[in-house]
Amino acid sequence: MIDQFGRSITYLRISVTELCNLRCRYCMPAEGVCKRSHLDMLTEDEMIQAVEAAASLGITKLRITGGEPLVKKNIVSICRRAAAVTGIQEVCLTTNGVLLPELAKPLHEAGVRRLNLSLDTLNPEKYAYITRIGDLNRFWEGFHAALEAGFEKIKINAVLMGGFNDDEIIPLAQMTKQYPVDMRFIEMMPMYDGGDFDSSAYIPYTRVLEKLPDAVPVQQDGGVAKLYCLPGALGNIGLISPVSAHFCADCNRIRLTADGKVKPCLHSNVEYALKGLDFAGMRGQLEKAIWNKPAWHGDLDAVHRSQAGRNMNQIGG
Ligand code: SAM
Ligand code: SF4
Repeated sequence: MIDQFGRSITYLRISVTELCNLRCRYCMPAEGVCKRSHLDMLTEDEMIQAVEAAASLGITKLRITGGEPLVKKNIVSICRRAAAVTGIQEVCLTTNGVLLPELAKPLHEAGVRRLNLSLDTLNPEKYAYITRIGDLNRFWEGFHAALEAGFEKIKINAVLMGGFNDDEIIPLAQMTKQYPVDMRFIEMMPMYDGGDFDSSAYIPYTRVLEKLPDAVPVQQDGGVAKLYCLPGALGNIGLISPVSAHFCADCNRIRLTADGKVKPCLHSNVEYALKGLDFAGMRGQLEKAIWNKPAWHGDLDAVHRSQAGRNMNQIGG
């Protein structure tokens, strides 16, 4: 479906849970989130009905996210059923990777073809710090399980944080020489208030290019990342700049939260509820959400915080 600004909306990101087995400082509070009544959350059947309604409006690509999608007990079934919906051409998933040793193969068999893994640092102490409870060894086990499972594409996402990982841009980028993966640097968005990040932490994507003078531009693949490649690399470097150079004019996505709210824009608190509706009701709400997608997300920086009204674990990134 085309929105009122002429953008073709073909991509739905579904957060299947708000819960997570990590506590990244830019994403959610140290104490985690209060587990909410399952009565408030979409059931698996409702999620699949929402996908069917979205597909009937022209959605062709899905990304399953969270919270951490792999802590959801029925994640493989959700992915399998979503991938089988008529009109859905591509199912991708974003994960912190911790549970991939058990789940990489079942997810691939269920129809997930592309995987994004989050990794902000190669240093075990810094990883434990930024995730508050994570063990970097667990990430590597998940990463290798993903490589072995045969996904079409694996991308690593690093949130750029001045004073934390800007000194690791080169080694992180060099992962594209060692492994057949893309490395994507994402500007940190001012979502969660309690993370102790001052304005110096919000660094622009151009900092990556300053550190990688050998990187050459490569053709866009239709996504939101500006793409570069290091000489001899097996994968690309992607730069994603929601803060310093927003890409709202080309935004083709809407989001569905685990409690059944469609968000036309990540940074707006306008939401359309799907919980409890039948197919026609869901389709109607999705249609309204797409049509009313705002032209852009407004100013975003250390001073102008996101107006999403939720932390990132409650939206899905
Ligand atoms: N738990 C999974 C993971 O970490 O990959 C999926 C959900 S997580 C919310 C999705 C993505 O959002 C991750 O790559 C994470 O790094 C990113 N993210 C979370 N908070 C962010 C923020 N404040 N700014 C930019 N990216 C953020
Ligand atoms: Fe969990 Fe992902 Fe948020 Fe980290 S970024 S706390 S792994 S949901």
